Amino acid sequence: MDVQNCRECGRLFNYLGGQRLCPGCKAKLEDKFQKVKKYIYENKDASISEVSEANEVSTQQIKQWVREERLSFSKDSAVGIECESCGAMIHTGRFCDACKKQLAANLGAVYSKKTVEAPQRNSRESARMRFLDN
Ligand SMILES: [Zn+2]
Ligand SMILES: [Zn+2]
Repeated sequence: MDVQNCRECGRLFNYLGGQRLCPGCKAKLEDKFQKVKKYIYENKDASISEVSEANEVSTQQIKQWVREERLSFSKDSAVGIECESCGAMIHTGRFCDACKKQLAANLGAVYSKKTVEAPQRNSRESARMRFLDN
């Protein structure tokens, strides 16, 4: 059995994995999550720091929920977090759409070497440029 101190209140508890929180603090955090979720839904233009202050949750915790895709800001909202790859603003998850595509393409290239499409388009483009030059 793995006994640990709770990260929040310092009480000893049987650690089962995941966040190092005792059952009591975990329940409290879950309550806060529900509150934050509702708050974001009702206050679409609230910034992360406003959400943090209104709900007494750290901005770090809010961003973590957003990265885990448990929370998301509405698509037309000016509020968001940064893409981990290029820093563009996103509303949920870890990467922007462009980087997600890029990552998927890289993964695809590793697994199935699907690199035929890109060179084909490039040669067609250079052919067209030659045509314009004439
Ligand atoms: Zn605790
Ligand atoms: Zn990006």
